[in-house]
Amino acid sequence: MTETIVSLRHVAKSYRRGKQSIDVLQDLSLDIAKGEFVALMGPSGSGKTTLLNLIGGLDTPTSGEITVAGQRLDQLGSGALARWRSTHVGFVFQFYNLMPMLSAERNVELPLALTLVGIEDRAKHKPSELSGGQAQRVAIARALVADPTLLVCDEPTGDLDRKSADDVLHLLQVLNREHGKSIVVVTHDPKAAEFAGRQLHMDKGSLLEAGSLAA
Ligand code: ADP
Ligand code: MG
Repeated sequence: MTETIVSLRHVAKSYRRGKQSIDVLQDLSLDIAKGEFVALMGPSGSGKTTLLNLIGGLDTPTSGEITVAGQRLDQLGSGALARWRSTHVGFVFQFYNLMPMLSAERNVELPLALTLVGIEDRAKHKPSELSGGQAQRVAIARALVADPTLLVCDEPTGDLDRKSADDVLHLLQVLNREHGKSIVVVTHDPKAAEFAGRQLHMDKGSLLEAGSLAA
C-alpha cells in the first residue's frame, strides 16, 4: 500500500479584503503519495501559490481538511503550525530568499547540504557573488537542512536561464529519486513536466485533473 504524504479534502480558501471576500480555492480534494514528484501548473492567479502554502503549512484553509505527513494541519494553531513546518517541510522560492549578508555556507548552516547540491566550492560566496542557478541551489540546500520529507517549491526556475533551470530541475529529480523526498513544484515551465512524475493543472481555484483520488 502506498503511503499518503499530502491529503486535502474539500478545502476552500477565501481572503478578506475589507468587506469583500475573495474565494481563491473551492472544494479542492487531492492526494499525493509519499515519494511523488508533482508539478503544479496553471495560469497566473489560479491559486497555485495559495495551494502550495496550505500544503506547506504557511497558511490555513477557510474550511476543509489538510493532512500532511500524518498531521491534521487545519486543526493546528499558528505556533504549533510553525513548529510542525520547521521540521517537516522545506521551502524553495523563485527569488531564493537568501540572506544577502551571509555566505552560502552560513545561509545553509550545514555545509554537507552544499555538497549534496554540488556547490561546495562556492561555500564562502555571498548571494551577490552567485549566479541565479547557484543561488537557487543554495536555497535548495537550505531547504534540506532539517531533512524534511516534503519539499515545496514555488516557481523555482522562474528567474533562471534554460541551462540553470535544467540543473535545478535535475537536482530536484535526484532529491526525489535518490533521497526519497516528496516534492511539489509550482511551475510555468513545460520542461518541468519531463522531470516530475505527475502534473496537476489548476484553473480558477480548482484542479482540472487530480490524478488518483480517494473518495
Ligand atoms: P498563483 O500562484 O496561481 O498566481 P495565487 O495563489 O498567488 O495564484 O493567487 C490566487 C488569487 O488569490 C489571486 O486572485 C490573488 O490576487 C488572490 N490572493 C492571493 N493572496 C492573497 C491575499 N493575501 N489577500 C488577498 N488576495 C490574495
Ligand atoms: Mg504564485
